[in-house]
Amino acid sequence: MKYNDLSQALAKLDQIEATAAAYGHAMGLLATDAATAAPTDSYEGRGRTMEVLSGVVYNLVADPENKDLLFYLEEHRAELDRFRLRQVELLRKQVDQLSRIPQEEYVAYSVLLNEADGVWCKAKNNNDFASFAPFLEKIVNYNRKFAGYYNPSLSPYDALLNEYEEGLNMQTLDAFFSQLRTALVPLIHAIGEKQQIDDSFLKRNYPIEQQEKFSDYLMQVMEIDPTRCTLAETEHPFTNGFNSHDVRITTHYYENDVANSMYSVIHEGGHALYELGGDEANDYTSIQGGASMSIHESQSRFYENIVGRSLEFVELIFPKMQELFPKQLKDVTAEQVYRAVNKAQPSLIRTEADELTYCLHIMVRYELEKQLIDGTLQVKDLPAAWNKMYQEYLGVEVPNDSQGCLQDSHWSGGMIGYFPSYALGSAYGAQMKVFMEQDIGPIAQLISKGELNKITAWLKEHIHRYGQLYKPGELFEMSCGKFDAKYYTDYLTEKYSKLYNL
Ligand code: ZN
Repeated sequence: MKYNDLSQALAKLDQIEATAAAYGHAMGLLATDAATAAPTDSYEGRGRTMEVLSGVVYNLVADPENKDLLFYLEEHRAELDRFRLRQVELLRKQVDQLSRIPQEEYVAYSVLLNEADGVWCKAKNNNDFASFAPFLEKIVNYNRKFAGYYNPSLSPYDALLNEYEEGLNMQTLDAFFSQLRTALVPLIHAIGEKQQIDDSFLKRNYPIEQQEKFSDYLMQVMEIDPTRCTLAETEHPFTNGFNSHDVRITTHYYENDVANSMYSVIHEGGHALYELGGDEANDYTSIQGGASMSIHESQSRFYENIVGRSLEFVELIFPKMQELFPKQLKDVTAEQVYRAVNKAQPSLIRTEADELTYCLHIMVRYELEKQLIDGTLQVKDLPAAWNKMYQEYLGVEVPNDSQGCLQDSHWSGGMIGYFPSYALGSAYGAQMKVFMEQDIGPIAQLISKGELNKITAWLKEHIHRYGQLYKPGELFEMSCGKFDAKYYTDYLTEKYSKLYNL
């Protein structure tokens, strides 16, 4: 179709974006419902609906007329503001990519993922890797194939990494992880020689009913607006943001581990603040949402670790903790809780790992994903490879696949190339802290006074409000300068040297 003027073309762009946002909203709600409220055997009907909806989205983006539209808008780029330019850039990327993926494959993949999630969940509960393996094999094959569609000029794993973090590649990650290894492995060894911190009181019986009240309180402390964000319980905690007025977060409660859900809520709460802090103008457009997975993780892990695992934060919330759990915490001080939630000890489960050994879990997944995608590792050999690496990197014996390669939902969700975002996000967060403090002073003092809103305001001003208006690297450099992993290794070294008197 021919466009007569710019306003006509922009109206068409708006229509595409509003439609895509509406379908995204509907599919996101289906996915949220699947994890929170839907009966276990409901996947078939949901699969059919997903098939129809994702087919519509496919057609919306793959519509040959979009090429004319993009051509027209790109010709008139001088007349477009940054917001419009970025919308055009994002649509261009989608159109180019999607037009390379055959529709049957795109739809079949969505259906596969919907089914795989249920299969993974059962496999994890029954410690039955064999039942999940055929699904994972298909998912790996699809990802390898899609990588070629995404960006045929890159190696497949680099192309997948780029889907989550524009510009990221194995070369950067290999260097980043090796920098972390050099700084952190000696630190972890030195801690291994020291007397270990007692955290046994965190594993007493904490009734779930009380933990639910604790979650509400934590969300209050973080000033998460309950009229725009709700909390549910799922197997694996997550955040789903639809617009700046509708964000869903989840947690998982363990009766004998109060810190587990506590830090899930704070982590997902950090994601939620990001989604809630986007400019309203971003809503129902492609600009809505986070700049990238790493930037998203920088926000969640900033709250979880830099704020949530600080002495000042624990002191701030301790009176409420004691009120909710008087018996469990009667012989415990805030300082003891602070030390306990920062206990560093190599372990099996990534989501329960301490701030220091966490990166090693990511390195394992990174190495295995590289091998799965380049074909040097077969899916059937994954459990053995996983267990071997946990022994090598963390020095722990993996007793079963439920606590091993079946522990995370990422692969069943098709997210290959995502894990490095967590480590990168943590490193981004440490650098943000330094630049934030140049503007608003030591955050420890703000946390002590319960003024978390000042921290959130800084993040909103520099990160949240922009949504996807800038590329992740660009956005980060605007407020924090060039990325340097040293901020992160320095932060960890200082914190853990003090904790363990090294
Ligand atoms: Zn997260």
